[in-house]
Amino acid sequence: MAKIFTDKDASLDVLKDKTIAVIGYGSQGRAQALNLRDSGLNVIIGVRPGGRSWNLAKQEGFEVYPIDEAVKRADVILMLIPDMVQPEVWKKQIEPHLREGMVVDFAHGFNIHFGLIKPPEYVDVVMVAPKSPGYMVREMFMKGYGVPALVAVHQDYSGRALDYALAIAKGIGCTRAGVILTTFKEETETDLIGEQTVLVGGLMELIKKGFEVLVELGYQPEVAYFEVLNEAKLIMDLIWRYGIRGMLENVSETARYGGLTVGPKVIDEHVKENMKRAAQRVISGEFAKEWVEEYRRGMPTLKQLLEEVSNHPIERVGRELRKIIFREEQSNQ
Ligand code: NDP
Ligand code: MG
Ligand code: MG
Repeated sequence: MAKIFTDKDASLDVLKDKTIAVIGYGSQGRAQALNLRDSGLNVIIGVRPGGRSWNLAKQEGFEVYPIDEAVKRADVILMLIPDMVQPEVWKKQIEPHLREGMVVDFAHGFNIHFGLIKPPEYVDVVMVAPKSPGYMVREMFMKGYGVPALVAVHQDYSGRALDYALAIAKGIGCTRAGVILTTFKEETETDLIGEQTVLVGGLMELIKKGFEVLVELGYQPEVAYFEVLNEAKLIMDLIWRYGIRGMLENVSETARYGGLTVGPKVIDEHVKENMKRAAQRVISGEFAKEWVEEYRRGMPTLKQLLEEVSNHPIERVGRELRKIIFREEQSNQ
C-alpha cells in the first residue's frame, strides 16, 4: 500500500519563519500562492515585470518582484512556470541566486527527471504535484476540501526535505485530500503516460471518435454531442464519486449489460498495446526529447493540431449548444 499522508501527518511549522517565492502566477502559481497565503504563510511572487501575471498578483495583494529578486528574498521557491520555460529561467534568474539550505519545489518532475535542470547539491529539491488543474486547487480549498497530490524528495540537503514538502502540501490544502509519497521518476512518467493515453489524449479521442461514428451513421450532430460529450461528464462524476461499480448501479440495466459486454470489444487489447507503446516512449525519454525539440521550433505541430481540433464538427456544434446549456450568449469556449 502506498504511503499516504493526511493533515495530521504534516505541520506548517517548518515554513512559519520562511519566505516562500511562488515563481509564476498562472494556473498552479495563482492557486497555490493564494492557498499558502490563506494558510497563514509568508508568500511573495516572482514573475516578469509588466506582464499579465505581474498586474494580477499585485491586484490580489501580493508583493511582486522580478524572478531573480524574488529568489534573493526567499527561502523556499515554488517553480510554477511552464515546464518548457523552466530550464532557461532557472539558469539565468534562479540558480545564480540560490543560497545554501534553500528549498526548491516543483509541481511536476519533468525537468529534474529528464535532467534539464540540475540543482546544486546545497539545496533541498522536492515536489508537490497536485493531481488537478489549478482552478480546482483553489476552488476545493475555498470549500474546505483539497485536491490529492503526490510528494517526492529528489535531494535532501537539510535532512528535513520531506517535512518541507508536506508543509507545502498542507498549505495548499492537499493533505486534506491525501498526499501520496512517490519519486520524481514515478510522478513524471505516470503523469505523462496518464495524460497521453487516458486523460487528455484518450478521453478526447474516445469522445471525438464516438461522435464521428454517430454522425457518419446519419444521426444529428446535436444528438451525438449530448450523447457522447455532455453525458460523458455525468458518467465520469458517478465513477469519480462512487467507483466503476457504483456508476454501473446508477445507469439502466440495459446500459450496464451493454457496457460490460461491448466496452471491452471497443477498447480492446490493441488499445492497450497502443497505450504501452506510448508509455515506452515516455519511459525511454523519446517523448521528452520530441517535445523539447517541438517547443524550440516554436511549436508548429501543436499549433496546427489545435487549429484542427477547433474546426472539428464536435467543436462547432458544441460551441452553439453550450450557449444554450450554460446560457452564455458570448461564449467562445
Ligand atoms: P502556466 O502556463 O499557467 O504558467 C503561466 C505563468 O508562467 C504565468 O505567470 C506566466 O507569466 C509565466 N511565464 C510564462 N512564460 C514565461 C517566461 N518565458 N518567463 C517567465 N515567466 C513565464 O503553468 P502551469 O500552472 O500550467 O504549470 C506550472 C507547473 O505546474 C508545471 O510544472 C506543470 O507541469 C505543473 N502542473 C500544472 C498543472 C495544471 O493544472 N496546469 C497540474 C499539475 C502540475 P506571464 O503572465 O508574464 O506570461
Ligand atoms: Mg497530470
Ligand atoms: Mg502533466
